[in-house]
Amino acid sequence: MLDPESFRCTKCGECCKSTIVWVTEKDIRKIEGIGFKRQAFAERDPHLGPNVSVLRKKEFGGACVFLKESDDGIYSCSIYKHRPEVCRQYPFFGFPVEDCKPATFLKAMANHQISKNINVKFAQR
Ligand code: SF4
Repeated sequence: MLDPESFRCTKCGECCKSTIVWVTEKDIRKIEGIGFKRQAFAERDPHLGPNVSVLRKKEFGGACVFLKESDDGIYSCSIYKHRPEVCRQYPFFGFPVEDCKPATFLKAMANHQISKNINVKFAQR
């Protein structure tokens, strides 16, 4: 199982490429505070709920609009200090996960939700 204390991100970018990132109004305001227009990075997703906002994806490839890739294939967050709360927590949401790959994470989340009957705000596209 992953341990939050020893976990080290490998900067593969997978979590920023293939998950839907739910954002709160507080997250949105924080990002607006560093100069981004809300329409440029956030959108409503009626499939997830009437008032749910998610980070926009790039036009090609499905990655978060804030994900950047260096020439040597290392991914990083271009708003790292101001990233949404859910990005800060990933993949540690109070249930055990074997690794941080989105497919593994979402499977662990689904098992946890079934056993606890709860709804954690994460999904995959
Ligand atoms: S805001 Fe940053 S950490 Fe969060 S999904 Fe986008 S690129 Fe990844």
